[in-house]
Amino acid sequence: MDPLSSSSPAAVVIGSGVGGLAVAIRLAVKGYRVTVYERNNEPGGKMNLFEKDGYFFDAGPSLFTQPKNLEELFAIAGEPMEDYFQYRSLPLACRYFWSNGKIVNAYTAPDAFAKELEEKLGEDPTSVKAYLLRAEKAYNSIGSVFLDHSLHLARTWLNKRLLPAIASTRLSYLTSSMHAFNRSSFRSEEAVQLFDRFATYNGSDPYKAPAMLTMIPHLEQNEGTFYPVGGMISIPRALYKLALKKGVKFIFNTRVDRIVHEHGQAKAVVVNDQLVTADMVVSNMDVYYVYRDLLKDAKAAARVLTRERSSSAMIFYWGIRKEFSQFHLHNILFSNNYKEEFNHIFNLGKLFDDPTVYINITSKMEDGFCPPGHENWFVMVNAPANRGQNWESLREQVKSSLHYKISRILGEDIAPLIATEIVMDPKGIEQNTLSHGGSLYGTSSNSIFAAFLRQSNFSSSIKGLYFTGGSVHPGGGIPLCLKSAKIVSELA
Ligand code: FAD
Repeated sequence: MDPLSSSSPAAVVIGSGVGGLAVAIRLAVKGYRVTVYERNNEPGGKMNLFEKDGYFFDAGPSLFTQPKNLEELFAIAGEPMEDYFQYRSLPLACRYFWSNGKIVNAYTAPDAFAKELEEKLGEDPTSVKAYLLRAEKAYNSIGSVFLDHSLHLARTWLNKRLLPAIASTRLSYLTSSMHAFNRSSFRSEEAVQLFDRFATYNGSDPYKAPAMLTMIPHLEQNEGTFYPVGGMISIPRALYKLALKKGVKFIFNTRVDRIVHEHGQAKAVVVNDQLVTADMVVSNMDVYYVYRDLLKDAKAAARVLTRERSSSAMIFYWGIRKEFSQFHLHNILFSNNYKEEFNHIFNLGKLFDDPTVYINITSKMEDGFCPPGHENWFVMVNAPANRGQNWESLREQVKSSLHYKISRILGEDIAPLIATEIVMDPKGIEQNTLSHGGSLYGTSSNSIFAAFLRQSNFSSSIKGLYFTGGSVHPGGGIPLCLKSAKIVSELA
């Protein structure tokens, strides 16, 4: 089918986050006439870039894994990816710091990482490599069946790879928490904490999330981490250019107000009081708002909220008047009491006064993000979803913890070095990205049932209505959003 022919079926995509962009490309390649409506003035959603006083900051995601999901998009579109987008693989995934002075370099080569954990934390390198191998096996068997397919179709459950995958799944992946599994796998408190941290990759709590999530380190420590040249913003920019090349039409600064359906079939969307008819509608919005606002289905919206939201974040974007060789691109400064930190986030809805701090510095990778000799720091702590907490006063609390903690690690007071600052709290994330509660990854994976309760990629009551992005199956984060787009295009 020629996507530009008026006889081709019409698809409307609501939102141009990474999931919306990817589904638009996939549908255009399949021959649909695709129109994307985006309420912002540019594509990318949570992935965007801003500048303040000569410092450039990626506002949202900073970690890029599994470039193969993007490579696949360019391959199916028949376009050379290098003409649109380039990335570099990183030998060091992250540098971890503890207040007892220990520092671990998480090399992306498993042998080097195992050796580092032996030298710095006294871990048995054979056990470390065995753990990573188990993560890889789990990801490639059960993970790939469930992450690459809809969970709500009989054919997924009849997939001939499923039974062997289930048979090879360790019972403890379902019955243990991630933390309990890690505790039984490593000797040192630090290694347990380092591997527990991977629960935060989808906004979850390692003390509640099932040990199945121990497959996540496979992505970073076996497959590797990557840096998109030009920063994270290069990803949505490249996808936008590819979508245009494939004939996708974008209408920015335009909100979709309703999805119209008749006799159980999606028929149109309402934009600026006008009906725009479509053969299929794909929502890339937070699914809560789709039900509440676009379908006026209060019951379904309430059902979405019965599933626990993922964590949110408090972010400080700091222009720093100095370069610090102690830090790399990705850095973690751990809390002394991880359990209490997660208790605060998920049970008490509060911020802990000794938070784990993530610092991302893209000026380590490329020039042009800040004045010479300076650095652009993205400093983030995990936070509970917004439930009306007093964020103004919490900002001050977090800021003083950050000053203390970072200055202690660097042996230098950082407060006078902050040349410029912007602060974003969960309420701000909620308002800016239309993510309910400001959650970064839709719903959490704090139970073994979470994957099954997450919104499916299609509506079971309205034919022709589909869902992509971080608030639906298989979940949040760039790799999973790209997978959700693939699932939708295969269902269409
Ligand atoms: P979104 O980015 O949520 O975009 C949805 C789009 O829909 C928006 O552009 C919005 O304007 C538009 N829209 C909404 N309603 C309407 C409407 N009615 N009409 C028209 N348009 C509408 N992931 C990682 O992989 N690595 C990370 O390091 C990482 N860190 C993160 C840090 C932060 C601070 C945040 C916020 C997220 C992070 N994530 C990370 C998660 C990742 O950013 C998201 O999972 C992903 O970008 C979500 O993409 P999406 O396809 O769901 O669309």
